[in-house]
Amino acid sequence: MNRQKSFETQQPALYIVATPIGNLQELTPRARAVLEEVDVIAAEDTRNTQKLLTHFGISTHMIAHHKFNEAQSSKGILHLLEEGKSGAIVSDAGYPLISDPGAQLVSEVIDAGYPAVPISGSSAALDALVASGLSPQPFLFYGFLDSGEKQRIRQLLSLKEYPMTLIFYEAPHRIAKMLQNCLDVLGDREMCLARELTKKHEEFLRGRISEVLDMCDSLKGEMVVVMAGYQEEKEPDLTQAMPLIKEHIRRCINEGMTTNEAIRKVAREHGLSKNEVYRQYHGLN
Ligand code: SAM
Repeated sequence: MNRQKSFETQQPALYIVATPIGNLQELTPRARAVLEEVDVIAAEDTRNTQKLLTHFGISTHMIAHHKFNEAQSSKGILHLLEEGKSGAIVSDAGYPLISDPGAQLVSEVIDAGYPAVPISGSSAALDALVASGLSPQPFLFYGFLDSGEKQRIRQLLSLKEYPMTLIFYEAPHRIAKMLQNCLDVLGDREMCLARELTKKHEEFLRGRISEVLDMCDSLKGEMVVVMAGYQEEKEPDLTQAMPLIKEHIRRCINEGMTTNEAIRKVAREHGLSKNEVYRQYHGLN
């Protein structure tokens, strides 16, 4: 059990700071203040974050924290917290941890009893979702599908019957293959491709997968794919077919079957639900 009261502690903390995904105006005043005030910033790519810090006139010391040094770097940051210093973690864009490094550090900080405090900001996944025109909830954020086609298809098969709106990140050089796999596995669903969010060339392509696929060879830049969830096919309306179905059931009864046996046989042969045929045959609703 771990209980954190973020605003009632004098303890050193780790701040999880979201940074802009394109438009620098989206760095919040709170994020800027935190980046100025902490003792150290753990950055996915220090050269990239240096540009952000320079733009905002921030001179806080940085250390590298990326997927190849996460274990070792986490130890160093915990050591700083033990010395009474505070830290922030940032990635190249958006929220750290979201398809970016940071999960191990946050988990270790919590385990060690220090606060892990989120500092809100841009998120490509949520920007895409809210402007997609698709059902905003429930949704499932998947991040990147595997880059290998075999594994990607396996992953899509596991999502095929999820009723939630699905959110994927994808690289531009893989988008055509990825959408083709989605079309083959999920069927021609409604989707939205959100490109270059918050930037000058921001664009949304909304339509069926096949329609977006037709256009996506020419698309460049950063992309989020939002896909409608699985929708169960509705039971066919039996009203019109019922006279024929009833006739079929009566013939079976005349041949010696009980009514229930006849209903079961006819429903199976027509690919219909036995309960629905039963209800219609007996005029129940
Ligand atoms: N941590 C980031 C976040 O919170 O969104 C995501 C980092 S992930 C390594 C990079 C992927 O996020 C890109 O390949 C793209 O799919 C998506 N992305 C990031 N910025 C974007 C933008 N401005 N427009 C569209 N997609 C973006």
